[in-house]
Amino acid sequence: MNCLYGIYGASGCGRSLMPVAVEQLKRDNLYRQSQIVFIDDALEENKQVNGYTAMNYTQFKATEAKDKKVLIAIANSGIRKKIADKLAEDNITMWSVLADSTIIMDAVEIKEGAALSPFVTIGANVSIGKCFHANLYSYVEHDCVIGDYVTFAPRVNCNGNIHIHDYAYIGTGAVIKQGTSDKPLIIGKGAIVGMGAVVTKDVPAGAIVIGNPAKPLVK
Ligand code: UDP
Repeated sequence: MNCLYGIYGASGCGRSLMPVAVEQLKRDNLYRQSQIVFIDDALEENKQVNGYTAMNYTQFKATEAKDKKVLIAIANSGIRKKIADKLAEDNITMWSVLADSTIIMDAVEIKEGAALSPFVTIGANVSIGKCFHANLYSYVEHDCVIGDYVTFAPRVNCNGNIHIHDYAYIGTGAVIKQGTSDKPLIIGKGAIVGMGAVVTKDVPAGAIVIGNPAKPLVK
């Protein structure tokens, strides 16, 4: 076997990304000479998940292969960071996966570990950090700057000239108003934008905003 590919996480996120990863291996003519498995630390012994072998990380490390690559398919950004650090320590390459239907326009930079689900579109001159997750039908329009470990639920509408800092989470169907090149709209580090929120102005680091227009969540 040339390469052993791992989808880290065998829950909702991982099971949705496995067929996207297989599609990519077939597109790149790598499927026949490689193997792809789930990695999940909740497993004590190998089992099957949706017809694929699933094993824990210790077993993955112990499996012989010329090369190993891993996509971290877990929505929680803190867990993604923890696993990314572990992979780096073990010299295992982070893998990026994108669907056949994903559209990437000109002059886009995307760092390692991205998961771009079916029907995601990335507009021109966008820069994206490590381990970005963009779920089904999300888009990132022109001139956006996305940090590390940012997570988009399905159908996020991220318009042009928006800067989203590390670890932010954007909920399903949220709409973020476009900024301008001299004044981008900023979503701060670790902020959470609730599902369906309409964000019209900057969101401070760590804030949770909901509603239309989006306002801080009062508990
Ligand atoms: N998980 C893991 N190692 C970790 C943390 C989580 O293998 O250090 C697995 C966990 O056992 C679970 C999956 O990752 O199966 C996360 O699933 P969850 O439903 O919480 O999230 P989602 O799939 O929606 O991202």
